[in-house]
Amino acid sequence: MLQHLNLDDIIPAEDQPRKTFHQETLEELAQSIRERGVLEPIVVRPLPDGKYKIIMGERRYRASRLAGLTEIPAIIREVSEEDAKVDALLENFQREDLNPVERARAIEGLLEVHSLEQVAKMLGKAEATIKRHLEILDLPQAVLDEMVDRPGDNPFGEGHALVLKALSEDPVSQVRLARKIKEERLSIEETQRFVHGIINFPDKKEALLRVPLRVAEEIIRSTARERGTQKKRPFKPKTAQSQAAAVGRAMDTLNDQIDPRMVDFLSRDECSTLLASATALSDTLKTFISKLRSLLSESSEFHEIYINCALCGRIELVDTPRCSVCWSVMKRCDDCGHYDRQYQMCSIDETHIPIPEAEVPSEASRSYKCQYYSPKFEARRAA
Ligand code: SF4
Repeated sequence: MLQHLNLDDIIPAEDQPRKTFHQETLEELAQSIRERGVLEPIVVRPLPDGKYKIIMGERRYRASRLAGLTEIPAIIREVSEEDAKVDALLENFQREDLNPVERARAIEGLLEVHSLEQVAKMLGKAEATIKRHLEILDLPQAVLDEMVDRPGDNPFGEGHALVLKALSEDPVSQVRLARKIKEERLSIEETQRFVHGIINFPDKKEALLRVPLRVAEEIIRSTARERGTQKKRPFKPKTAQSQAAAVGRAMDTLNDQIDPRMVDFLSRDECSTLLASATALSDTLKTFISKLRSLLSESSEFHEIYINCALCGRIELVDTPRCSVCWSVMKRCDDCGHYDRQYQMCSIDETHIPIPEAEVPSEASRSYKCQYYSPKFEARRAA
């Protein structure tokens, strides 16, 4: 039954699911009511004393008061208090404008009078989903308070809250991380990485909670590397070869990418992240190079000697088959102590090698994979 009721005869429901009314959005609704009136009637139920209690539409009721109205269109529904509670909850669920805390509290209220199975049926959700909605209520109130912003504006949702439960032993960090999620608008996956970092490296917690995400991720990566907690792949000769090839490719890319001018165009934050990454990389490289040198020095056949590419001047290790810049073949008979330029011949097996081929070899030339190559010049030794 639709009627126009006096606002003074209407009282809000004290157990209505929505607990937070944002003044800004109420003002917006009040302005719209001033201009166009209340377009959708509220729903109320009659009380024995002649008043009416709101089932749905408390925002419209509050905004109408703000707009200075004295009456509001209302549908009067004869229902019990319990049914009114369920109707109010269902309406809000359908509109999806309850924040996660209001939703969990409302479900909690329903579970006081109905079984989990009944509540799941009423709300059209699986029992597991209902239980998950309730799980956030185990978090400290200060964390829950961070979830009640204006709907749509708050990056801190139920998914984030469930991730924070892993820090249940450390409520202070839960609150700090909840604020960080909002300030930096972290995704659920990013929050998970933070939480894992804090759990795995408790001594780095303070640093992780203070720095921005990119820096925190770098701290987590480098700490994991240092302490050997990164997942290790089973190591076989093929793994080593593919890793060595990947390192070679990464170094080439890095050589192309590094340009000191970039720092003139980066923010302080970006520079600090870059510095952290470069320092961590440099430490890793130093360790790797020292291990590699020590391994190579055990071999009597290996001498760390560098030669220049005849075409582009790039310096490469003497055994490198190709220049990494211009891809020219590096080992030339003309540079080899076994080459007799006058007779155009290799003295090892007396093969005829014409001068053009000795100076500019190709992949088909003998020198390309020659195991007897021995540079005749005073080669530059690595520092
Ligand atoms: S590189 Fe090999 S083929 Fe060429 S001269 Fe030297 S030893 Fe002979």
